[in-house]
Amino acid sequence: MRGLGAERVAKKFKRLGGWFIAIVALPPYYYGFEEIIVESYMRVVELISREATRARELGLEVARFMGIHPAEIDEYYRRGVRGERLYSILSGVLKLVESAIRNGLIDGIGEVGRQHYTTSPERFVLSEILMREAMILARDLRVPLQLHLEQGGFITVLSIKTLIDSLGVSSRQVILHHTNTETSSWVSNYKFPFTAPVKYFNEEYLKSGVEYCMLESDFLDDPMRPGVSAYPWDIPVVIRNLLMKGIMSEEQAYRILVDNVVKYMNVKPP
Ligand SMILES: [Zn+2]
Repeated sequence: MRGLGAERVAKKFKRLGGWFIAIVALPPYYYGFEEIIVESYMRVVELISREATRARELGLEVARFMGIHPAEIDEYYRRGVRGERLYSILSGVLKLVESAIRNGLIDGIGEVGRQHYTTSPERFVLSEILMREAMILARDLRVPLQLHLEQGGFITVLSIKTLIDSLGVSSRQVILHHTNTETSSWVSNYKFPFTAPVKYFNEEYLKSGVEYCMLESDFLDDPMRPGVSAYPWDIPVVIRNLLMKGIMSEEQAYRILVDNVVKYMNVKPP
């Protein structure tokens, strides 16, 4: 709406070696759909579906995600929508996500999860309730789920492990997004797929292992907020640099950039 859009991003990313892109929906108010109703989310589904088609037409593999971000819950509380009323709207959003997946309009659920910053206990608990419901949905629909979590190392990973075990969700469906260096070694120990932010991906990060690792740019495509994330085309630059310095092997690069993406994002190999 305000940024480059999927077409220009896909063109440049493909030219510089990219083959897969995950498009994750932002909250409706971010696109100017201000009403806090399920229909606003329907418009977001249509929007990301249209953008994904543009990227696909340029030859990229694309996976489309929609969820309820923990920061969204805080925003609705600030706007005075809370408690039972908010839960009922957001349950409707999860039903929309379910039908959008069943109808082939989106491919996975995310981001959902917990605030990584201080918030009220009530908002935190609501975020976790919705994450749990999203896990059940991902389990039943057999789609990937991208989690936005606090970076609490062992405790973060233990809590997700406990939840998925009690719900019967496969760990391979649960992708821990924006995992930092410390948390990534725990995530690897517990065999969860995760995405490493390309801006923190270095020799130190590589030490925690790449068996379950993928890379993300976390690109926001918002010209008002430059520099809050990396660009998708920073990924090939960082990888080439690590390969040239001999810090990373080609096998490791292939695992991160191709194998794991095919396996955990449910897409065809390039
Ligand atoms: Zn996130």
